[in-house]
Amino acid sequence: MFARHVRFNLANFIAAAVIGMCVLAASVVVGVNFAVDHAVSVDARARAEDWATYFVSTLPDLDRLLATGQLDDRQSAVVATATKVGNVFRFKLYNAAGSAILESDTKAFGKDQDSDHVDEEASEVVSTRQSLVSLNDGSNERNMPALYAEAYVPVLNADGSLRAIVEAYVDQTKTAVLFKTSFETLAIGLGLGIAIAFGAPALAFLLRTNQAREVKHRIEFLARHDPMTSLLNRTSFAEMLAPRMSKRNEHAQLAVVFLDVDDFKTINDSYGRDAGDEFLKHVARTIAGLCLDGDFVARAGGDQFIVALTRSSQLEVTATVEAMIAAVREPITARGHRISGRLSAGVYLVQSAGDVEDALHQADLALYQAKIDGKNTVRLFSVEMEVRMRERRVLEQLIRDALTLGKFELHYQPLLDVDSKTCKGFEALLRLKDKNGAYVPPPTFIPIAEAIGLIDQIGRWALQEATRTAVLWPDPMFVSVNLSVRQFAGDHLVGDVENALKASGLPGHRLELEVTESLLMENTQSVATQLKALKGLGVSIAMDDFGTGYSSLSYLWQFGFDKLKIDRSFIMALDVDEKKALEILDTIIVLAHRLEMKVTAEGIETEKQATILAGLNCDQFQGYLYGKAAPAENIAPMLLRKSEPV
Ligand code: C2E
Ligand code: MG
Ligand code: MG
Repeated sequence: MFARHVRFNLANFIAAAVIGMCVLAASVVVGVNFAVDHAVSVDARARAEDWATYFVSTLPDLDRLLATGQLDDRQSAVVATATKVGNVFRFKLYNAAGSAILESDTKAFGKDQDSDHVDEEASEVVSTRQSLVSLNDGSNERNMPALYAEAYVPVLNADGSLRAIVEAYVDQTKTAVLFKTSFETLAIGLGLGIAIAFGAPALAFLLRTNQAREVKHRIEFLARHDPMTSLLNRTSFAEMLAPRMSKRNEHAQLAVVFLDVDDFKTINDSYGRDAGDEFLKHVARTIAGLCLDGDFVARAGGDQFIVALTRSSQLEVTATVEAMIAAVREPITARGHRISGRLSAGVYLVQSAGDVEDALHQADLALYQAKIDGKNTVRLFSVEMEVRMRERRVLEQLIRDALTLGKFELHYQPLLDVDSKTCKGFEALLRLKDKNGAYVPPPTFIPIAEAIGLIDQIGRWALQEATRTAVLWPDPMFVSVNLSVRQFAGDHLVGDVENALKASGLPGHRLELEVTESLLMENTQSVATQLKALKGLGVSIAMDDFGTGYSSLSYLWQFGFDKLKIDRSFIMALDVDEKKALEILDTIIVLAHRLEMKVTAEGIETEKQATILAGLNCDQFQGYLYGKAAPAENIAPMLLRKSEPV
């Protein structure tokens, strides 16, 4: 479209330039002819005047000739040679009264002859005493040059009075040709100069204008489209969706679909940004390729896309979305890497003419749900989702605020030695109050903190706070800090732990770190390296909530865990099916001891549970029976009693 525009204007410019050149050429022709005529006249006058001077100075006894009109021999000789001088091919001599005395073919008129005949031009010179020149075309006259000048030149006395008039016929044919050629060359040069002087800036201006127009069109395009994929952008998508929503076809299902690449950051990090961009373009093409007439797609930013689909039923909508997810899963080669991506999708089925932003929001909520439900899937928006999401957003904000305003707390729950029933250390447990002052359970807010990428910062704070607190406790009491799997994803966990120990002054052996089984499902090499480095700091590592995940005991040995914390659910199971629970607990404890790990039983609430686990050779107890988690200042009695039984 832009190219057509440019061509059209260039054609205009060329047409204008051609017309301009024609006008210029016509003006040049007229101008050159006029200039040549003028120059030839001026030249003829000069030549005639020069010739007249020459003639009267070489002609002896001019006054006598003027008076008598009779040529003597000497004068005849001069007259005979005079026409061979310069371009003058003929001349006449008039007396001061303007009467012809002599013609160049040496015809003297004599005193009586024609003496009263006064030439018109000569008589004008008599009165003006100025030279008079006229140019004549001699091409049709016999024995005449093609162009000649007739110049009347006054010959003056020393006192300025008129002595005679010489009429010289000057052949200007060659001079005119010479002038014409010179003027034409000059005119062409000038013309070219003018063309360059005016044409070049005009052309530059035109190109600049076209460039500016192109830029304007590009800016307009960019304002409506995503530059990388050339899909619509979010704003123009919303503009297009509005009329569709207000004028809905009753027999068709309009759906707004939000699609997001799962873990796109990993693709970017693993294969580089260029490959990441290639992949996004592939996703854009794939999604657009599965659209039908009337559907439209936008890139909502980053790795997110929005599609408006019109299908005959909800089933067809989900089938299309599932086809998109499946197509994107097919691997592609980008920048030499084989990449296969996954998509999550949220669908909002438009029910009534409503607000566009609301529709986009509902689809976004459904997408969010798809992500929470494990990604690589599609979810339809429901009203309950809205309520859940609203609560979630409130929690997200609460977490963000708590982090920036320092509102997180750590409570400490005692860990007791089974035999001596003495307190050996405390587990630090994170606490967060909602706006009403009620504590939000960690299993509610920790996954959210992980999802919004804040667990690293929160975990770092917990490490610093716990070590700062524990250093005040009697040696060798330890503090146990929970770590999220996410904290192993970066490369700063070991540094964070080291810094916390250094800053607090707590020796490494008084710090225990609790990790969960899910950690072993991650990149085991990197996890193993980090665990080893942590152990190198003297820190001990405990496997928390053992039995709730999928890892095997052999794994634990490989990673060199120091302690196993049996999940509360096994302890609770004692009250339900004591025999079976006993068997399982016995197996776990025996095996853990074989692998040189200590065993802690979590969630001891009754004396009965404590007695059974003591009988199974459990090493440590943790549970409400011995104390709930409490703020650091409230655990003083336990600390004072130090190693005494609680
Ligand atoms: P966990 O590490 O297994 O912590 C023990 C949980 O069991 C704590 O719940 C504790 O209050 C509770 N508990 C202890 N004894 C009893 C008992 O006798 N009966 C009952 N019913 N519960 C008992 P809490 O504090 O709600 O923490 C829950 C989970 O949140 C923790 O489980 C841990 O996985 C996570 N968590 C807590 N603090 C942090 C933290 O700083 N970082 C990370 N990443 N996770 C944390
Ligand atoms: Mg724990
Ligand atoms: Mg636990």
